[in-house]
Amino acid sequence: MDQLIGKTEEELCALVEAIGEKPFRGRQIYHNIHQRRMLDFDQMTELSKALRDKLTAAAKVTESQIASVFHSTDGTRRYLIRLGDGLESEAVFMPDERRDTICISCQVGCAVGCKFCMTAQMGIKRNMTAGEIISQVVIVLNEVYGAGNETPHGTNLVFMGMGESFLNYDEVMKSIRIMADEKGLGIRPKRVTVSTSGIIPAIYQFANETVRPNLAISLTATTEAERTDLMPLNRKYTLGELIKACRDYPLGERERLTFEYVMLEGINDSDEDARRLVRLLNGIRAKVNLIPHNPAPELPYRASSMERIQAFQQILIEKDLPAFIRRPRGQDISAACGQLAARHEAV
Ligand code: SAH
Ligand code: SF4
Repeated sequence: MDQLIGKTEEELCALVEAIGEKPFRGRQIYHNIHQRRMLDFDQMTELSKALRDKLTAAAKVTESQIASVFHSTDGTRRYLIRLGDGLESEAVFMPDERRDTICISCQVGCAVGCKFCMTAQMGIKRNMTAGEIISQVVIVLNEVYGAGNETPHGTNLVFMGMGESFLNYDEVMKSIRIMADEKGLGIRPKRVTVSTSGIIPAIYQFANETVRPNLAISLTATTEAERTDLMPLNRKYTLGELIKACRDYPLGERERLTFEYVMLEGINDSDEDARRLVRLLNGIRAKVNLIPHNPAPELPYRASSMERIQAFQQILIEKDLPAFIRRPRGQDISAACGQLAARHEAV
């Protein structure tokens, strides 16, 4: 047996049956791990001592451990989490007056190669398993709130850490189903957002999921040439086809597609870009998040000025395209969008 977190109820029932236990023990274990966030078999007191010992000898709840925690002056915390094989992932906790947001990774590194993103510079090390993905949430919640209680109501979860969710589709979806489950973490799909750089076939697949969180598309450019420069995957999955996939996407009644747009000074932030963006998204029920570029010494871009970002936003709003400026969080500890690269220092 490897780690038990991230296994479905059915998988856990089969596992305990294989070691001579009644299947319902599997359901109890599932509940203790995912709903009550118990990471130690000895906390699971409704199991007999003999069974707890047997489990402790044969398996672990999770192999992930906190390697370091960095605290930002704005309350954001960046968690460096060591996985079973020694590689490291990152999760970010962002408290807010109304509700908290946890930003998680789904791969160690990323293969997509966006020019403005630090994670790209790591290359791809490997996909994370559903258990490793969920472990981040459990570890962060336990560190902030302690184990044994349910997920605080209204916690938001975003797949905007390291990696491209749609290049690790099956494990990401499995983790979402367990996290959405009332008997699991109980984080409702409407509180979860998956962000993609635009893996088009996966967008069509995602559209057909029964448990389906919100979808965010990282656009960041309004012409094919500009987007190919910034996001080389645009050669394969072109802007034109991406927008078509968005038009085909079956939005629920209250749903909207989110488009993320990293504001890069002098590159994609002109009035003309804003007007093109309006035309591109015309007819799609959308909102736009403008993300001021988070700089890093290794990246060749600068953030647009706040004045420029506001002028850009104004053009969208005047054309009835809702647009929001994302407040940078945790920049001082390298925790902001695009800064995650498993760093051991705050930079
Ligand atoms: N791989 C996914 C999700 C992780 S990145 C994706 O690309 O969508 C989350 C968001 O941060 C994306 O919208 C991405 O465009 C943005 N981003 C990447 N690098 C950034 C940077 N240096 N500054 C600001 N935002 C950045
Ligand atoms: Fe990967 Fe997203 Fe960074 Fe692009 S922005 S390199 S897809 S993590």
